[in-house]
Amino acid sequence: MTTMDEKLEAIMAEVMRRNTGEEEFIQAVREVLESLGRVVAKRPDYIDNALIERICEPERQIIFRVPWVDDQGRVCINRGFRVQFNSALGPFKGGLRFHPSVNLGIVKFLGFEQTFKNALTGLPIGGGKGGSDFNPRGRSDGEVMRFCQSFMTELSRHLGEYTDVPAGDIGVGAREIGYMFGQYKRLSNRYEAAVLTGKGLSYGGSRARKEATGYGATYFVEAMLATRGTSFDGKTCVVSGSGNVAIYTMEKIRAHGGRVVACSDSNGYVVDESGIDLDLVKEIKEVRRERISEYARQKGTGTRYITMGSIWDVPCDVAMPSATQNELTGKDARRLVANGVLAVGEGANMPSTPEAIRVFQEAGVLFAPGKAANAGGVATSALEMQQNASRDSWTFEQTEQRLASIMRHVHDTCAATADEFGAPGNYVLGANIAGFVRVAEAMRAFGVI
Ligand code: NDP
Repeated sequence: MTTMDEKLEAIMAEVMRRNTGEEEFIQAVREVLESLGRVVAKRPDYIDNALIERICEPERQIIFRVPWVDDQGRVCINRGFRVQFNSALGPFKGGLRFHPSVNLGIVKFLGFEQTFKNALTGLPIGGGKGGSDFNPRGRSDGEVMRFCQSFMTELSRHLGEYTDVPAGDIGVGAREIGYMFGQYKRLSNRYEAAVLTGKGLSYGGSRARKEATGYGATYFVEAMLATRGTSFDGKTCVVSGSGNVAIYTMEKIRAHGGRVVACSDSNGYVVDESGIDLDLVKEIKEVRRERISEYARQKGTGTRYITMGSIWDVPCDVAMPSATQNELTGKDARRLVANGVLAVGEGANMPSTPEAIRVFQEAGVLFAPGKAANAGGVATSALEMQQNASRDSWTFEQTEQRLASIMRHVHDTCAATADEFGAPGNYVLGANIAGFVRVAEAMRAFGVI
């Protein structure tokens, strides 16, 4: 474990005492505090003003009951969450996750990460996150709709285009956003387009939002590779997951001349040395909502479907974990390093364990943390809010250009901050410090609130 400044260690101890059992949240806070030693050495006022303690405490946490009726007429109960973490830079902004693993600790870790990520984009958005332990898998459209309507019936009182603006995340895509927006509109009697992002194009969505997280992560890794005089061209890549982030990461890697040979879902992974056939993955995942095993079944010879071991056993030059938190362990990292990995870019939030990150950094592997690399999604959500506010709709090219330039800004900010604080090439340190300073400066200006 990295050593921490004494005063920061005391703050960390208090965070652990207050948030007992919330492992992911504690892990996320520890990673940020471990980066801040060099900042507080220069700026002790951040400690004196309890700014760091305040940043580690969410502004508001909402937990609520979500009752709904399934297709058999049974009443089901789920738990809904919204953690409004920090609004120093703008309205709370961050996605909703529907997955059985969702609990308060996970939502808090995601909200905390989101605060720094949003700061890194340079756009006026605060940080928040929410969701439910509802599992959409295997549910009919009618059941998903009734769940979303019930969820929004409570959540709506806490939202607003100037207050809190949710979006999608795991288990929440265009279908779920559509049902939730419809219910919000009905309850509020207002067409408040910018209250949710990730909307369909026919009702205020932004072009390139669906693609933005994956495309953005690929731009970030391309910029990192350029610092070593190389690019995606001709590189073998592995992308975990096969959801929104994974699909559009694979699409952009291919456009940049790379070859993705493996992707996964929570049941297993497929290897296709000739290059993953994206049209088939989209058909299976976006249209038929089936398992990735279908890919191997349909493709047949030359394709393998593996349920044992880890997708990170597949040799590659570039690895982009794009499924979920802590999916890439220290053991996986050692295997990737032994196989000669050159760069790792996190499409998901906190997919690498702290041990894995240490292994990559010690081996000199280029490593892009999720809070920087996957910022393209929320950045394009902010562009969707801009379009809604000005009653405008931009072209795909215009939106993608803005996304590319924001990702360049995020990359360059992380790299320059790492240089400034004496850790060149350490994107974790660069992202944590740059994100923290922007939020802390705004909070300091507001006084003690
Ligand atoms: P999706 O629901 O579209 O896809 C998630 C993918 O990850 C699926 O293939 C899913 O498989 C897999 N997965 C989920 N949980 C697990 C698990 N416990 N073990 C193994 N695989 C799992 O979600 P997104 O693509 O939107 O999100 C992926 C990651 O990216 C998350 O960490 C999210 O927070 C992050 N992210 C997303 C953004 C966005 O714009 N969507 C923005 C920034 C970050 P299965 O179908 O089997 O569950």
